[in-house]
Amino acid sequence: MILLQDMSQTELSDFLTAEFNVKPFVAKQIFDWLLKGADFDSMTNISKSLREQLKHDCVAVSAKIVRTLTSQIDGTQKFLFELFDGNVVEGVLMSYKYGNTLCVSTQVGCRMGCKFCASTLNGLVRNLSAGEILSQVLSVNALGNSRERFVNNIVLMGSGEPLDNFDNVIKFLRLVSDSRGINISLRNISLSTCGLAPKIRELADMGLPINLTLSLHNPDNEERKQIMPVSNAYSVEESVAACRYFFEKTGRRIYVEYTLIDSQNDSYAHALKLASLLKGMSVHVNVIALNPVKETRLKSTSERVVKQFLLYLDKLGVSATRRRTIGQDIEGACGQLRRRYLENKNGF
Ligand code: SAH
Repeated sequence: MILLQDMSQTELSDFLTAEFNVKPFVAKQIFDWLLKGADFDSMTNISKSLREQLKHDCVAVSAKIVRTLTSQIDGTQKFLFELFDGNVVEGVLMSYKYGNTLCVSTQVGCRMGCKFCASTLNGLVRNLSAGEILSQVLSVNALGNSRERFVNNIVLMGSGEPLDNFDNVIKFLRLVSDSRGINISLRNISLSTCGLAPKIRELADMGLPINLTLSLHNPDNEERKQIMPVSNAYSVEESVAACRYFFEKTGRRIYVEYTLIDSQNDSYAHALKLASLLKGMSVHVNVIALNPVKETRLKSTSERVVKQFLLYLDKLGVSATRRRTIGQDIEGACGQLRRRYLENKNGF
């Protein structure tokens, strides 16, 4: 199957001309439809016979919204997207004062094995193509008023490890920020990684002005190995050094994600070690309480200890804020919804 959303406007035009003898202005019309997240049937200004031919070999919408859940607490929306081969991935739309942020997936499943994360429980199924990542953005953007862009910011924080699907993620970044495409600034995009140090350096060398987030969760290597097997490959010092390098190359401040897990990473000693690890770095720490996953026995840190941990960081001179836990009633955490869907396809 050929995924048309994998292509830039020029690539699409070349492809349609070569394969279907389509004129450039028709190719442009098709591209505009694809940007709107439209399926072939809605492409009313395109001849029926061409649409039928395209349907045969090509996919117009690479990630179709098949379920939407809306949080009764805060209005956060969770989407389940279906891909052409029947696989499903999740996305979450969060509304803030400064605009809408969409969290998208980069892989079906994940092979990083973090103990607190639902996405990785059954391992990696496959990588998403650039167009499949982009399609999540286009499909959700289409829900808004078409005169204004509905999705303002993107975070690559859904299921998957973006740097484990490097080439497709880079191509996605190029497509999504293309001035002839949806044209979302790279500065409004955050990529979150569990710390694949060589890939962070490779990304840094490309000089793309995105925001980089390191999912750290524990500053101690031995303890981190217990919850994040990636630490067996790269020490926290290696990952943090790669982040410092990213800052040198791009001038973009680094973000650290720190999920508090009861009695695992929430003591003063952890705060102290974290402060020393991040010393002298242009960094902001996002502290978040664990969103417990039913399949694991890990518990969230209590409210009192979360506040205390933030106070410790403040005293130690580490810039940190609490990230709101949102969408808890809709299985907001990474991979939870897809799991529930796979467990119980009909009773969803
Ligand atoms: N693989 C990438 C991006 C996907 S995970 C990464 O590791 O950053 C996105 C973020 O959600 C990571 O910071 C991850 O550690 C966090 N996360 C996953 N499951 C969680 C849960 N149950 N509660 C809180 N945060 C979770």
